[in-house]
Amino acid sequence: MPPQPRHTSSCACGAVLLEAFGPPIDAVACHCADCRNAGQRIQALPEAPPVLDAGGGTAFLVFRKDRMRPVRGAERLRALKLKPASPTSRYIATCCNAMMYAGFDDAKHWVSMHRDRFQGEVPAVRMRVCTGSLPDDAVPTDLPRHRGYPLSLIGRLVLAGLGKWMRGAAG
Ligand SMILES: [Zn+2]
Ligand SMILES: [Zn+2]
Repeated sequence: MPPQPRHTSSCACGAVLLEAFGPPIDAVACHCADCRNAGQRIQALPEAPPVLDAGGGTAFLVFRKDRMRPVRGAERLRALKLKPASPTSRYIATCCNAMMYAGFDDAKHWVSMHRDRFQGEVPAVRMRVCTGSLPDDAVPTDLPRHRGYPLSLIGRLVLAGLGKWMRGAAG
């Protein structure tokens, strides 16, 4: 049985449904230039639900890549890359232009799923990250703020990668 709890993430119209298992690695709002740029572009699409939160961040639940899978509507997902060579793709549900998650072509072993799309009980955002390119007064003080990725988050990402590797090694 996959780790519990099971979380579900739906596009605005319900045609696309994703599921993710276990507690997320973390719950963060990202303020990097790419997230701001992509968020503005995606939420400006016709009928698109908002991507950016009131503080200008994009709220994500981070899951190990192998703990997320589509339940339905995967064929409706379209990848948006800010630059053709970028390893990062943001996946948009073409039915309603909802931003579902960010995935990576490089070695990153996680996916960043847009928190607003989750249903039911959703873990709260714990911190604002990658605020370094913004003036201090441009980032809300409601949560702990970090200019990059704090060590605690890097540690959790590394541990999650080890867990995935060990599972793979065990067959
Ligand atoms: Zn939809
Ligand atoms: Zn970001």
